[in-house]
Amino acid sequence: MTWSERDQQVIWHPYTQMQTAPAPIGIIRGEGASLFDEAGNSYLDATSSWWVNIHGHAHPYIAQKLATQAMQLQHCIFAGYTHPAAVELAERLLPVLPGRQSRVFYSDNGSTAIEVALKMALQYWENKGIRKQKILAFHHAYHGDTFGAMSVSSRSVFTAPFDDLLFEVHFIDTPTPDNLPQLKAAIENLGPDSIAAFIFEPLLQGAGGMLMYEADALDQLLQYCKQQQILLIADEILTGFGRTGKNFAMENVATAPDIMCLSKGLTGGALALGVTTCTAAIYDAFLSESKLKTLFHGHSFTANALACTVALASLDLFLQPECAQQRDRIHAQHQQFLQRLAAVGTVKHTRLLGTVLAFEIVTPGQDAYTNQLADELHRFFRAKRIMLRPLGNTLYILPPYCITNEELERVYESILEFVGTMG
Ligand SMILES: *Cc1c(COP(=O)(O)O)cnc(C)c1O
Repeated sequence: MTWSERDQQVIWHPYTQMQTAPAPIGIIRGEGASLFDEAGNSYLDATSSWWVNIHGHAHPYIAQKLATQAMQLQHCIFAGYTHPAAVELAERLLPVLPGRQSRVFYSDNGSTAIEVALKMALQYWENKGIRKQKILAFHHAYHGDTFGAMSVSSRSVFTAPFDDLLFEVHFIDTPTPDNLPQLKAAIENLGPDSIAAFIFEPLLQGAGGMLMYEADALDQLLQYCKQQQILLIADEILTGFGRTGKNFAMENVATAPDIMCLSKGLTGGALALGVTTCTAAIYDAFLSESKLKTLFHGHSFTANALACTVALASLDLFLQPECAQQRDRIHAQHQQFLQRLAAVGTVKHTRLLGTVLAFEIVTPGQDAYTNQLADELHRFFRAKRIMLRPLGNTLYILPPYCITNEELERVYESILEFVGTMG
């Protein structure tokens, strides 16, 4: 039996309707922007394996560091004990983050980084003896799949079975130069004094549909929130580590976040790790003679030494000038492709931010995750051996930075072929 066949006896896949989904492809090897299946076919990973991979698959530098660390220390409890990889990663990460982030709290993935951020923000006010419990977020937000992260995410098909159980969150539109007065009025209405925190994905809302919005308008909204003493939680789980062009999306705004969440590209996509950082002001509110002011949160694998080591190796590669050059190159290629796409009548809302290109395909159905076109798109690109995973009728390219121009051209050509058959 193949790996794919054996899988179908025992595995339940994420975000997959197991009754109707095609058999999974058994991947046995990765190299650069490609993955290879058990029959020897290669697939071009044009969405970075769910947005995590930045330097390419099975990167030898990351593999080497991982192997060395594995012979030294793999994991140890992180309460009462520490280890070099965790300390060094925090030391090197904090200075490259926007704003004045001063502490790192480790967890396991993006969703847990969000849970930690929410608990930090809510308990910050609790510890200060100030009653503020409302949370503000954007429509179309996605912050993860655990219950707190679902609560601060937009209500959608993803959350529908649980909506009654999610805690209340107040949603506002993403800012434009025109709607700022309305957004401020909405916040005014809620009572800024009762709002503990505002959580947002800067510039790019990923799972909500690869929606993009402007930095200037965001900055004005953030400034207003800051004046109202609303803590700012920047979810850079997708946007961090160069995805939007600059190292971090928050570098596009002047307002500094109080709390930041990182994961995905943090380890270059090789291992699961989450980071929540905060300013000294947040951290200080948890210092007390009283144990009750402790942040009672921690996972068994907090600050796993292998994951921290891989994050350090990824950071080495990320901070080399070549990495920024690769991102600029991808952006320039995307820009040219957008011009070619603009001539196609069956696409709309073409948009570009850093290495991310997105657009909607015009269909009779709604612009939504449940749009039937998704299955058709999936089948088409699978047959072309290109890994693109549409969000409904939204198609996007979000490649590892090592993807070559020739490989990008293959992706572009296949997209043009698909949209050429439409209409
Ligand atoms: C993926 C994602 C998350 C959740 O991260 P997981 O590691 O999948 O739990 C949170 N926020 C954003 C913006 C994301 O893209």
